[in-house]
Amino acid sequence: MIKMSILVYILMTIIAILMIIIVLLSKKLNYISKTLDEVVKGNLNQRIRLQNHIKPIKGLTININKLIERLQKVFEKNKINEDSIKKMISNISHDLRTPLTSMLGYMELILNDSTLNEWEKRQYIKIVYDKGNHLYNLMEEFFQVSKLESKDIILNIKQINISELVRQNVVAFFNEFKKLNMEAQINIPEKDIFAFGDEKAINRILNNLINNALKYGYEGTIIGINLRENSNYVFIDVWDNGAGIPKEEIDYIFDRLYTVEKSRKLNLKSSGLGLTIVKKLVEAQKGTISVKSNPFEKTEFTFTLNKNLVKIW
Ligand code: ADP
Repeated sequence: MIKMSILVYILMTIIAILMIIIVLLSKKLNYISKTLDEVVKGNLNQRIRLQNHIKPIKGLTININKLIERLQKVFEKNKINEDSIKKMISNISHDLRTPLTSMLGYMELILNDSTLNEWEKRQYIKIVYDKGNHLYNLMEEFFQVSKLESKDIILNIKQINISELVRQNVVAFFNEFKKLNMEAQINIPEKDIFAFGDEKAINRILNNLINNALKYGYEGTIIGINLRENSNYVFIDVWDNGAGIPKEEIDYIFDRLYTVEKSRKLNLKSSGLGLTIVKKLVEAQKGTISVKSNPFEKTEFTFTLNKNLVKIW
């Protein structure tokens, strides 16, 4: 009889302990469910904070928190992308609207102002033509950037004589250097240097960097190009001793549509896409590009090309 009542007592105790565990567990699960409800509602700062010694629950809590953290990061990234798309659309519409408005203004003048003589009409038509050209180039650049971003561009990678390519680009700009009274300091080693890349892309990069040195470095006197190499890379520096790039803006100049405040004011027909395209072309050839600027001493862009065929090609 006594044995029996001891057994019942033990059973009751076990049931009581189990009940307590179940109540505690259901409280914890309730708390987890409420926290997840908050997360679903969009409150991604919520985390499950449980002091728990039961291994599976501890593991579950850690994993749910990791999931919320990842979700939060994806949301933040999406928000940044959304903002940059909004900014880009507003910049593009501004860049397209300004020349379009002015073209329409001139056309209205040509059509409605009967006091204009032939010579004046021709001048206005020329302005409209120039602005139309600028718009066309702008659209081409937008198109290039979006093609490069969607990796919808096929590069023809082969071994190229870079010394020869640099020489050709220098010759093509010779008259411009002369016109702007800029001395060209060209440093190409006697022995030809070769690297792997796409000829058109390298020409585009060089053309853009030299053009920028002329366009923005016009207050200086020298334009320099150096060709160097080590065992793995070819380095091409394009530099000028013009006004340079302000320290606070230098980190942004490769960003889409970024034009230094001063250049925007000067209205140098800039789109802010030139260096974005340059960087993407360099990277598509598995190279890197960097810039250093010491105003009126040296503003230098350096990009690299691979001397060896990179595995990924
Ligand atoms: P854009 O199409 O406006 O010329 P880029 O992307 O080529 O734009 O250049 C971005 C900005 O970088 C320009 O607005 C200009 O202010 C600055 N920049 C580029 N090259 C030079 C340089 N050699 N000297 C000074 N500023 C430069």
